[in-house]
Amino acid sequence: MSYRLVIMGPQGSGKGTQAALLADRLGVPTISTGDLFRAHMAAQDDLGELARSYTSRGELVPDEVTNAMVRRRLAEPDVADGFILDGYPRNCFQLDELDDILADLGTRLDGVVELTAERDELMARMKHRAEIEHREDDTDEAIARRLDIYDEQTAPLTASYGARGLLVTVDGIGEIDEVAERVARAVTGVRN
Ligand code: ADP
Repeated sequence: MSYRLVIMGPQGSGKGTQAALLADRLGVPTISTGDLFRAHMAAQDDLGELARSYTSRGELVPDEVTNAMVRRRLAEPDVADGFILDGYPRNCFQLDELDDILADLGTRLDGVVELTAERDELMARMKHRAEIEHREDDTDEAIARRLDIYDEQTAPLTASYGARGLLVTVDGIGEIDEVAERVARAVTGVRN
């Protein structure tokens, strides 16, 4: 059995948390593009410096850069039997690229989980997170920009995945464990 999944959801929807919980439950690694960029930024390498110039403003890192990074990561042996992609694809070009990458590897997605939450709730959660984590891209402007980009470029991807019968939508409001149960049940459903 393999689980090749994408988890989608606006910033603050609990996507990263749920991706990690689901990955533990299924025994597959998580690939978070945000975490990959942050690791490069911490290492202060060229990719990190380039990424910072976009992430600090809440803008997307250019597709060529992100796509190449994801292609490299998906070719590593630990994800051969499954993975949860968190934060990718974020626009229609990345969606096409992901299809190409997986086709080149002789495989394809098994399912896509979309976490939903109201914008007011998201803004409140993000502000709270900004106070605790002090992430450098959690300024009010960058948060608002990320939510706009999500609505404009990322949310529409659910239509493509929905048309392929891959999409399950899960209400992201509630206790973490409760949402995790919903996600796990939804994933079992999409794979049949
Ligand atoms: P959040 O979900 O809170 O925006 P992430 O950790 O997923 O946080 O991403 C942080 C930043 O990294 C994004 O705002 C963006 O600048 C960059 N990033 C992450 N994933 C992608 C992607 N697929 N394409 C382009 N940029 C990305």
